Amino acid sequence: MEKKQFQAESQRLLDLMINSIYTHKEIFLRELISNASDASDKYYYQALTDNLGAVTREDLAIQIIINKDQRMISIIDKGIGMNEEELEKLLGTIAHSGSLEFKKKLDDKQDDVDIIGQFGVGFYSAFMVANKVEVISKKYNDDQAYMWESDTTDGYTIRPVDYNQRGTCINLFLKENTEDENYDQYLDQYEIERLIKKYSDYVHYPIQMNMTISKQKEDSEDYEDVIELKTLNSMIPLWKRPKKDITEEDYNEFYKDKFNEYNNPLTVMHNSVEGNVSYDSLLFIPSQAPMNYYSNDYEKGLQLYCRGVFIMDKASELVPEHFRFVKGLVDSQDLSLNISREMLQHDRQLKIIGDKIEKRIQTELSKMLKNDREKYEDFFKQFGLQLKFGIYNSFGMLKDKLQDLLLFYSASQQKMITLEEYVESMKEDQKDIFFVSGESIEKIDFMPTVERLKDKGFDILYLTDNVDEFTIQMLREYKEKAFKNITQGDLDIDTEEEKEELKKKEEDNKDLLTALKEELKEDVQDVVISSRLKSHPVCLSSGEGLSLEMEKVLNQMPDAQGMKAGRILEINPNHEIFNALQTLYEKDSSQLKDYASILYDQALLIEGLSIKDPVGFSNKICNLMVNINK
Ligand code: ADP
Repeated sequence: MEKKQFQAESQRLLDLMINSIYTHKEIFLRELISNASDASDKYYYQALTDNLGAVTREDLAIQIIINKDQRMISIIDKGIGMNEEELEKLLGTIAHSGSLEFKKKLDDKQDDVDIIGQFGVGFYSAFMVANKVEVISKKYNDDQAYMWESDTTDGYTIRPVDYNQRGTCINLFLKENTEDENYDQYLDQYEIERLIKKYSDYVHYPIQMNMTISKQKEDSEDYEDVIELKTLNSMIPLWKRPKKDITEEDYNEFYKDKFNEYNNPLTVMHNSVEGNVSYDSLLFIPSQAPMNYYSNDYEKGLQLYCRGVFIMDKASELVPEHFRFVKGLVDSQDLSLNISREMLQHDRQLKIIGDKIEKRIQTELSKMLKNDREKYEDFFKQFGLQLKFGIYNSFGMLKDKLQDLLLFYSASQQKMITLEEYVESMKEDQKDIFFVSGESIEKIDFMPTVERLKDKGFDILYLTDNVDEFTIQMLREYKEKAFKNITQGDLDIDTEEEKEELKKKEEDNKDLLTALKEELKEDVQDVVISSRLKSHPVCLSSGEGLSLEMEKVLNQMPDAQGMKAGRILEINPNHEIFNALQTLYEKDSSQLKDYASILYDQALLIEGLSIKDPVGFSNKICNLMVNINK
């Protein structure tokens, strides 16, 4: 019999499959079953249009047969079938199908392994696991069946055979096991069952296999092996069932089973969308961030199905980075497996779906924030950081989408509030949104700068995450109110009277301040009289730009470059220490140096920054203590 050569392009694809090092070779089964399902669809349609008599889905059941002796696995459909020409054209050349798109992509990228996973690679994927493939097919309107056969070495043959059933039977003769690769597993009925459940559960024709099951004999203790025809797929996906028929329990179990989760999800979003691209989506927000969530190991994405056929596990185009915590799946009939292989289409449609999903998640979160605050706070504890990173990483581009989903701790309300809530409760004459950052709420509460503002009735947002201040910088303002770090610059919270008074104090003590500044000139930019303090003697502030907290965060980073915020030492003019300084300056300015240094070190300590010379500091304090008793 004449052997025909594969067309050059097909040969290349074939070689790629034969030599594939792709680790998920198991997808061959998905590919062949989805071809069988497509062929059944075509017959179903043909039967309708040509009045060939009623057909049910059961009539079109797909069979799988395992033959261990021959190391063979067969996939049999009762679909449309292929005649001689079609076997030649469809299986001998590549130009017809989505495989061509696949090959184009290969030529562009050369990243074989990755693409195999993403694409339907079609019929040729059989050669990842088999060294010989037979395709026996009888077209629905043809009396003669034909067999296409290839053992890959040199081309293929096609010849007439006796086969009386409509449709196609594909026989795969599995490769021998190698050191790295176990092909025997595909002869195991349970492995096949697992693969069908994983990839083809929702194919809408029954996929059946005779399984050997051990059963207890009637009226006896003994067991015997019996053979039972089992349908391996469930055919109706949860997401295709009417919402009213689905219980919370159903969703929870599905989620845990599908995504290997231990806890129930926080929220379920189940939608059926009609439009340019129609799809069903079933999305979950986990109740807890996975261990590796904030690391590079975490991979985002949704499962993608086309008409119930599983395509890929983590389609990352379907969820934006800032909502990467969402798990779930999308099933679209507009991305039929064939169309999905047309890469361009594929990308554009995925993008449309991705955009809609982003909006859906956003609405869900806004709704939760409004209607179920407690739940939202639970969510925010787990994933709030992600939203803040979203704003920061996008350089503020996502501001409009995300800013109203943020929560910060409010000093006066002593709970988490939104920016909107802050602005709503602002004092009438208040211009800015005040915030301060620190390690914890408790620590911030002790900060000297907080006291006076609170006293005057201003609310302050306490920021305790490292990224917070960076996020705020990207936001710049909220509803035309600027964000103002209370440890930086002029807060403008004083009455005219208070301003006058301060100005006067500054003038009266000009020399003292200059002298102090001179003593501390290596450490601070300036020494000023403070309008920030109430009962505390001193504090540090910084000019606009880098704040002291940001300095801390930046210097914790691995490639820290010793960034330094400008420091200003502020002294409380209403504190006794100020009188002491005045007296000292007038009487015995030789001690001013020590006093200045102690005050500066104290300010550093209060800020949680380390001091340059702890021993010197301690000696100076001791000195003072000794002198007091003299
Ligand atoms: P694709 O499915 O992307 O078109 P394949 O390489 O998987 O690419 O298949 C090539 C073609 O062979 C299919 O388009 C289909 O026309 C035909 N074919 C494959 N398997 C079957 C089958 N089981 N029954 C009928 N036709 C089939």
